[in-house]
Amino acid sequence: MKLVFPGSFDPITIGHIEIIERAVDLADQLYIVVENNLRKKYLFTQEQRLKMVKEATADFANVQADTYDGLTVSYCKKVGAKFILRGLRSSADYLYERDIAAFNRELAQIETLFLFSGNKYAHVSSSAVRELLKYDACIQNYVPKKICGIINEIKKNKF
Ligand code: ADP
Repeated sequence: MKLVFPGSFDPITIGHIEIIERAVDLADQLYIVVENNLRKKYLFTQEQRLKMVKEATADFANVQADTYDGLTVSYCKKVGAKFILRGLRSSADYLYERDIAAFNRELAQIETLFLFSGNKYAHVSSSAVRELLKYDACIQNYVPKKICGIINEIKKNKF
């Protein structure tokens, strides 16, 4: 089974990694797609976000990371995947995800599979990490260790 895991990953967090670790056992191939959502303003560029995702997932043999600017379902068609993967943290995620999943099913008969976040990381989000970065607080416990160096490098030029 091919699974496409789309998201902003601005930046990738240990919450994302927890979902990825579980998904690699379910999928033959997991495609992580770093998207540009028109409604979002990003802290990191798409290329920087992709670099961090690649670094953080380099040890997973069946994970491939990519960028894409079109609809997620178009990316699914491109790679021949029938399923999208999303994580669910809270009831707030649920209604948003339910609508997007319905669109994707109508548009392209692509089903969305959901994994609930483990209790340990349900509170972790990229937006919280961005907030911590803004105030120069420690982010070590919330992002994969491997990307702390990249973030610090980018931070030097950005903040
Ligand atoms: P998007 O802008 O598409 O929501 P995100 O990078 O914020 O992109 O999230 C991508 C996916 O990862 C979403 O399905 C989101 O619910 C999931 N996710 C993010 N953080 C967590 C977490 N802590 N636990 C489980 N899933 C998460």
